[in-house]
Amino acid sequence: MRVDVISVLPEMFEPAMSASMLGIARDRGVLEFHAHDLRTWALPGVHRQVDDAPYGGGPGMVMRPEPLFAAIRAVGALDERPALTILMTPQGVPLSQNLVEKLATHERIVLVCGRYEGVDERVREAVDLEVSIGDYVMTGGELPAMVVVDAVCRLLPGVLGDDESSTDESFSWGLLEYPHYTRPASFEQRDVPAILLSGDHARIASWRREQAVLRTARSRPDLLEAADLSPAERALADQALDTDRTDPEEV
Ligand code: SAM
Repeated sequence: MRVDVISVLPEMFEPAMSASMLGIARDRGVLEFHAHDLRTWALPGVHRQVDDAPYGGGPGMVMRPEPLFAAIRAVGALDERPALTILMTPQGVPLSQNLVEKLATHERIVLVCGRYEGVDERVREAVDLEVSIGDYVMTGGELPAMVVVDAVCRLLPGVLGDDESSTDESFSWGLLEYPHYTRPASFEQRDVPAILLSGDHARIASWRREQAVLRTARSRPDLLEAADLSPAERALADQALDTDRTDPEEV
């Protein structure tokens, strides 16, 4: 897969894109990554301007359409494979594992990163999709773009080893993943559940499934409606819904 990003801070990407799995994916040729400086397509002049004051007044600066349209066209033309062009914005569709899986089927994506108050409204016509990483506002689209690349890249064939398979993970069953434990078996009077030490793989699989249901009911009850649960699992989830949960309002 080829990924291009367009940003006024392209230097932000290299440390994240060369570390760990993303670095390995690039070394293996599974991921081709290019960060482009939007100022390459800035307005003529010494200031290499890419933003301007908002019409109608108000705080902050807005990214002008000319550099962004020029960058999107030029970057799109760098490779013959058609690109899915995505604007990072808190107003976009929420990023989900389902969307990540769809993005991973594309041969090429171009991610456009906003800054300041965001982009001129007309830029929305130059992209195929608008994506948000969550209901909060960040200072720029660079970290959101890295989130997208990281989540998509780990699904590409050959990135994760067999022992790091992504098939059991949170959201892949419509549930959060079951809890994990490693050595030591006992740590400061906190014991690993005995079943995990039993060697009985069938019982371990069923315990894990039950834990995934309980965990989802406690932490993300909104996921339960669409989850594929047996009647017994549904009853278990209903019981767990009544137990104490962390209330984000109290944090
Ligand atoms: N004024 C904009 C609004 O209220 O929708 C927010 C602009 S934000 C300060 C600057 C840039 O950060 C955005 O253009 C976008 O590229 C990026 N950004 C901020 N939060 C984001 C999020 N949750 N998901 C994706 N991109 C985000």
